[in-house]
Amino acid sequence: MEMNSANVEAVVKQVLESMLKQPVEKPAGVSQGSQGIPKTAHVAMLTALEHYDVKEFPMPEVGDGDILVKVEGCGVCGTDAHEFKKDPFGLIPVALGHEGTGEIVKMGKDVKADSAGKPLKVGDKVVTCMIFKDNPDITMYDLNKQNVGGADVYGLLPDDDIHLNGWFSDYILIRKGSTVFNVSDLDLKSRILIEPCAVLVHAVERAKTTGILRFNSRVVVQGCGPIGLICIAVLRTMGIENIVAVDGNQQRLDFAKRMGAEHSVNFMDFKGIEALSGGVKDAFGGYEADFAFQCTGSPVAHANIYKFIRNGGGLCELGFFINGGDATINPHFDLCSKEITLVGSWVYTLRDYATTFDFLKRAKAIGLPMDDLITHEFPLDQINEAHVTNLKQEGLKIAIVNKD
Ligand SMILES: [Zn+2]
Repeated sequence: MEMNSANVEAVVKQVLESMLKQPVEKPAGVSQGSQGIPKTAHVAMLTALEHYDVKEFPMPEVGDGDILVKVEGCGVCGTDAHEFKKDPFGLIPVALGHEGTGEIVKMGKDVKADSAGKPLKVGDKVVTCMIFKDNPDITMYDLNKQNVGGADVYGLLPDDDIHLNGWFSDYILIRKGSTVFNVSDLDLKSRILIEPCAVLVHAVERAKTTGILRFNSRVVVQGCGPIGLICIAVLRTMGIENIVAVDGNQQRLDFAKRMGAEHSVNFMDFKGIEALSGGVKDAFGGYEADFAFQCTGSPVAHANIYKFIRNGGGLCELGFFINGGDATINPHFDLCSKEITLVGSWVYTLRDYATTFDFLKRAKAIGLPMDDLITHEFPLDQINEAHVTNLKQEGLKIAIVNKD
C-alpha cells in the first residue's frame, strides 16, 4: 500500500479531529501578513563540539504550504546536551532546538488549519511535532500506537539551503507536510514544556496498558530531573497520589514533593540496595510499590528498581533515550518469580502530543508548579552559556527565550 502526502494529511486530520472533536473550519478572510518581518533571520548553529555560532541567513520565501514562525522560546533538552558534547547523530553543522514555540508571522495561501483541524491565522501561537514529508514509512498507519521514533523533527534536521530548521533561532520556516498545532490558549512556559511533557503522557499511557496502574496505586518514580518531575505531575493529574520519589539530590526531591510526591527517598542516605528498598517500603508504610517509573539514564538504577516492586507489579522504563550501557538483572528473582510486567517507553505518538495540551491545563488547574520547572532563561546569543549551565545540572529545565 502506498500513501502520498495528501493521504497522509487526510489521515492525520481524521485521527486528530476524531479525538479533539473539532471540525475543520473554514478560515476567515486573508491569512497573509508580512509587515515587520526582517530581511534576515538568526539561527544558533552548533558548528563544532561545545560551540554554537549565531548565524545570519536571508529570510526565506514562504511557499504556499509553508508557515513562517517568529520564535518566542525553546527548551534545552538532554538530546541537545548530547549533541553539544558528542554529536552522536553526526549532524554538525546543525540548527538544534526541538522544544520550541512561537507566533505565526506569515503563511502560504494553502495553509488553513492545524493538524487537528483548528483554524490557523497570523498571530497564532504554534508548536510542531513530526514532519511527514512524502515518506510513507513514517506515516504511521496507527497514529495512536506508533511513536515518533524515525520521523523527522525540527531541531534535529540536517542543514539545508534554508537553514531555518531549528527552534534555537529567531525565525523558523515550518514546511508543507509538517504537523503543526495551534496552542494559542497556552502561555509561553507551558508551550515550552509541551515536548518533554508529551514524553511522560506517552510513558503513562504505556504504563496503563499493563492494567496495573489504578487510582490507589503505590507508585515509585526513580529519578527527579525534569522527566521524573513531570512524571509525578502526569500521575497527579490522573488522581494517583501515593507516589514515592527516589533521587540522590535533595533539592530535586524537595521539588518532587512540591510536584505532588507523598514521600521522598534520598538514596545517599542508604548503603546498598537492600537498605534502599527497605527505605522505599517504609515510605509506603510497609508496602512495596505496585508500579515504578524508571526516569534515570543509569543502568544500575534500572537493575535496582525491581527490588522496589511487589509481586505482580509493573515497571515502565523510559530513562534511556541514548545508550547508557547494559544493566544486570536477575531474571529469576527480578522478573519471573515476581511476575513483573515491564513496558518500555520512547518519545510519544502524535495523539499523545495533542493530549499533552490538556494535561498542561489540568496540571495548572490543580496547582502543580509546572512553570517552576523552567529554572533558567537565556537569550539566543548566550546559547553556549545556556548549554554549559545545563551540563552542570544546576537547574531543571533551561530555556532560550527571545525578548524584543
Ligand atoms: Zn527533547
